[in-house]
Amino acid sequence: MIRVDILSKRYGRVPVLGPVHFRIAPGETVALLGPSGIGKSTILRILAGIDTDFEGCVSRPEHMAIVFQEPTLLPWRSALRNLTLANAGLSEAAAREALARVGLKGRGEAFPGQLSLGQQRRLALARAFAGRPELLIMDEPFVSLDAKTAETMIALTETLIAETRPATLFVTHARAEAERLADRILELRGEPATLSPHLVQTEGYD
Ligand code: ADP
Ligand code: MG
Repeated sequence: MIRVDILSKRYGRVPVLGPVHFRIAPGETVALLGPSGIGKSTILRILAGIDTDFEGCVSRPEHMAIVFQEPTLLPWRSALRNLTLANAGLSEAAAREALARVGLKGRGEAFPGQLSLGQQRRLALARAFAGRPELLIMDEPFVSLDAKTAETMIALTETLIAETRPATLFVTHARAEAERLADRILELRGEPATLSPHLVQTEGYD
């Protein structure tokens, strides 16, 4: 079980987050929704352990992967090496298989700069899923994509989540994306921001 218990988070004297408490069960996909600037990325960084300067505590599995808004690939390494360097113990065969799953079959030797932006984003997804993380964190991974590319990426992400079943925290300001991908939506509101949780899927009801 992943636990986030933030009592407060400030930048300098400015309180950004009020009490924020939530859990993510194994295999569950949770969307964190809210307008730009409210504190979504801040929560994500706290959960990931990148930001430890807050009051409260978090508990997360060791085996974690993060997909940022930008692909954050190593430009001087091949697609294949981008996968194996990020995932200790991943064999070359498994890395090639992971590339094939995102439509990059045969592109293992290409450098990120030789791939289109859409392909780079798919490579970043392959890198995140290849190690079969227990926790997957995604920060607005489909923002600033054209409608067609965004649709392709969302469908691919849905498939990878269904195959791999990590606990997922997915940050977005787009309600439609949240409703499509998530089992549950947590919405940030107010200043400092707190959660107003609500269910998007009710088992057994149409
Ligand atoms: P979101 O991801 O929801 O757009 P962020 O978590 O990035 O929001 O930021 C929440 C608020 O905290 C914003 O007002 C932002 O300007 C501020 N903020 C974010 N990072 C820092 C920082 N390193 N120093 C000071 N203020 C920050
Ligand atoms: Mg953000």
